[in-house]
Amino acid sequence: GLLTVVIAGRPNVGKSTLFNRLVGRRQALVADTPGVTRDRKEGEAVLRGRLVRLIDTAGLEEAAPDTLFGRMRASSEMAVVEADVVLFCIDARTGITPADEHFANWLRKQNRKVLLVANKAEGKAGAASAMEAFSLGLGTPIAVSAEHGEGIADLMSEVADAL
Ligand code: GDP
Ligand code: MG
Repeated sequence: GLLTVVIAGRPNVGKSTLFNRLVGRRQALVADTPGVTRDRKEGEAVLRGRLVRLIDTAGLEEAAPDTLFGRMRASSEMAVVEADVVLFCIDARTGITPADEHFANWLRKQNRKVLLVANKAEGKAGAASAMEAFSLGLGTPIAVSAEHGEGIADLMSEVADAL
């Protein structure tokens, strides 16, 4: 099967925006068709000429456990098991939260390759605040702006290197 890249992180950090940015144009157009759910959970992306499966771990809000970490973990667990690489996303504008730290600790024990993605890092100030995520102990944060398309090419080549 295809190599699998899983996008994980707490709600509102921009996972779905990043997913839409990484999947091909054709899928993005399908997702934008009225009446079709925008929050696609699975798609394909081309990384350095190679087709990979991309999973957006959405649906955190519907999952049963009543703590934020519990919901993050429940929604991510199944996908992370299948992941060749996990893109763990944080929000560079709000900074690292306790839920991010808790999730990072859990993720470290899953024996998966993890790339730390600091989203919403548009501009120079954004790139600087992204470096705060070093404290998670998951390596060098990759600063991106999924919404503005900044840092995406670098992210894609880091993912391709990790696969
Ligand atoms: P998810 O809950 O993690 O899937 O997050 P979404 O993709 O739904 O995005 C949550 C909010 O963050 C939306 O209002 C997005 O427009 C916004 N957002 C996503 N990416 C960026 C970014 O790179 N920069 C900024 N400033 N906002 C972003
Ligand atoms: Mg989402």
